[in-house]
Amino acid sequence: MVVILKEQYNQAQLDNLVDWLKSMEIEIHFSEGMKHTILGLVGDTSSVDIDLIKALDIVEEVKRIQEPYKNANRKFHPADTEVVIDSAQGISIGNGSFQLIAGPCSVESEEQICAVAESVKKSGATILRGGAFKPRTSPYAFQGLRGDGIRLLLEAKKLTGMPIVSEIMDISQLSLFADVDVIQVGARNMQNFELLKELGHSRKPILLKRGLANTLQELLMSAEYIMAGGNDNVILCERGIRTFETYTRNTLDISAIPALKAMTHLPVIIDPSHATGISRMVMPMSLAATAAGADGLIIEVHNDPAHALCDGPQSLTPEGFAEVADAVRNILPYSHGRMAK
Ligand code: PEP
Ligand code: MN
Repeated sequence: MVVILKEQYNQAQLDNLVDWLKSMEIEIHFSEGMKHTILGLVGDTSSVDIDLIKALDIVEEVKRIQEPYKNANRKFHPADTEVVIDSAQGISIGNGSFQLIAGPCSVESEEQICAVAESVKKSGATILRGGAFKPRTSPYAFQGLRGDGIRLLLEAKKLTGMPIVSEIMDISQLSLFADVDVIQVGARNMQNFELLKELGHSRKPILLKRGLANTLQELLMSAEYIMAGGNDNVILCERGIRTFETYTRNTLDISAIPALKAMTHLPVIIDPSHATGISRMVMPMSLAATAAGADGLIIEVHNDPAHALCDGPQSLTPEGFAEVADAVRNILPYSHGRMAK
């Protein structure tokens, strides 16, 4: 971090700033310019509040040289992270391991979740998704089966052997997730910092979705919240962001894949279903994401999309999913990540 002082500054205030920085074990290099004095801060500046320094009377400008995320930063951890989901079955994501996650937006009944689980497993999905707690825009829309939804997902897990992923909305729900293999933090909760801190105390894999209007750096800062608590098992998910375009539900940021791959060692997966909101666009977006080097896809599949209680228009039928899974498998060997290795 670099701090540029105003032309005229008060020495006592500068001494205070220097003492404060030194108390955080930060070394300071002074350089006297023609007009300005510049302080080069060396050390771990991730906990230094840049706004606090900017607000000081003696400070003209502050610039961060190093990214404020340390645990998630590829610079400090060059090798790809592989998040283990089910070691007995050898299911992991990242560092060359690609997984297809599939299932309905919401768990609706035992018949529904079990039928979808069996069919997507046959087509090559290795992880089953299903929402039990649903973050709906309208309070009058179906809110999910909640605890019963988790119970039914566990039935489907018992039936098929597939590990399961489901979304948590509040930390009070955590005890219900004891046997859930991956906990999803949805887009709307990406910056629920108290929730992220609690999940940092868990050792379960966390599927962290990018917020509707969040930058990649903000996504990584949220991952940092989880990792700072000691949980390194974070999988990032790009699921489309808000732009001025209204044809699709969101705009899929494919460039997030190579960008995040440079910024972080964490695995990156893509959700083409929420990104587009349109089932026929799931195939081309899945192929694009795979080609660009994603570590996996999370796709909504329903046995009867027309009557789904949530997100029917973006849900594939089991047959549609089988086609996507086949096409993805065909191009996977040529994806950017694999070619580069
Ligand atoms: C979901 O996965 O069903 C979901 C609500 O996703 P998002 O948080 O990305 O909207
Ligand atoms: Mn959904």
